[in-house]
Amino acid sequence: MTRDKGGQGRWREATRLVRGGLSRTAFSETSEALFMTSGYVYQTAEEAEQTFKGDIKRYIYSRYANPTLTTFESRLALVEGARFCHGTASGMAAVFAALLAPLKAGDRVVAARALFGSCYYIVADLLPRYGIQTEFVDGTDLEQWKTALSRPANAVFLETPSNPTLEVVDLAAISTLAHAAGARVVVDNVFATPILQKPLQLGADLVVYSTTKHIDGQGRSLGGAILANDEALIEEQIFPFLRHTGPALSPFNAWLLIKGLETLDLRVRRQAENARVVADFLTGQDCIARVLYPGRADHPQHDLAQRQMPGGGTMVAFDVKGRREGSFRFMNALNLIDISNNLGDAKSLITHPATTTHERIGAEERARMGIGDGLLRLSVGLEDPADLCEDLALACQAARNG
Ligand SMILES: *Cc1c(COP(=O)(O)O)cnc(C)c1O
Repeated sequence: MTRDKGGQGRWREATRLVRGGLSRTAFSETSEALFMTSGYVYQTAEEAEQTFKGDIKRYIYSRYANPTLTTFESRLALVEGARFCHGTASGMAAVFAALLAPLKAGDRVVAARALFGSCYYIVADLLPRYGIQTEFVDGTDLEQWKTALSRPANAVFLETPSNPTLEVVDLAAISTLAHAAGARVVVDNVFATPILQKPLQLGADLVVYSTTKHIDGQGRSLGGAILANDEALIEEQIFPFLRHTGPALSPFNAWLLIKGLETLDLRVRRQAENARVVADFLTGQDCIARVLYPGRADHPQHDLAQRQMPGGGTMVAFDVKGRREGSFRFMNALNLIDISNNLGDAKSLITHPATTTHERIGAEERARMGIGDGLLRLSVGLEDPADLCEDLALACQAARNG
């Protein structure tokens, strides 16, 4: 549920992040109130009856809506430039609902191959079990999209930049092809964040987030969100699916996310600056075979990245020489940067995708995605970048000397 109170849509983005959706109670508190309640009471039996008939619009049950969630959803919708937003219990609940809710047996989905492990599972394993045809393409190859979308399709799904190889997919071009094929476009915008990329403006129909990542940004809570402008899609497909299947976001987590949004712009911009410093530093290191960062001119889709996201993002991927052994020595020698599969945190976190997030998909498919045994994914945090570079330099020595 969302609501644009008093022309908040005219506010600039920094103001929206701090004040969007704010709705004070009778106590006139400064900070947003936390409504830790599952239900709501009615003054009379008649009021309950009229509410269930739909004659009165009010809070009924927190699986449907909750005032703290409404504040979070209104704020994120304002930042994204979306008419509708719905919070979910996790990012995967958002991806699953956005993809599945409007689909039925016999439908067809085309997806970019470079996906987060669980997203890949939904498209490759789960949807086909319910009679939905799925097909993968190389997200960076426009010809493959053209071929796949020369036949009717119902949904297109992609991440850009992708996890973990930071491939950049052309949102405007793919949206045009998808719409011509009859497909709606679902974009997982986690890596770009709402600060650096606005897929709805580039033609996407649904945007999904794992708010666990940058929107919380301090490693405290799981959460997700679905955003869109199409009222029929939201009111007739997405919202009923969420209400009746129940992946509801906890009010407490929604409250953390409200506070996360207040500092999102500052954090993402600083983390992206730090990521740029780290990517440049790594490029000069002799233990590294390849650095992938969309903000660097040597990234394969650098021009496209510059067109659709103002900034290279907070993630850096790189291949350490010496394959798995080299990259493990590298990670184990780090003192400051933590080994963790989470990302988007104030703390810098590193992971080896081939043995963690992308272990399940098998060596052959990993090779096709460009996930080698030496690849590391670094989520750059808010530490001083000089400390990060010193830590990485020591790790490099250890990787070399193994
Ligand atoms: C983490 C992540 C998800 C899943 O989010 P959860 O909150 O962990 O369920 C989906 N897509 C991408 C790109 C992610 O990084």
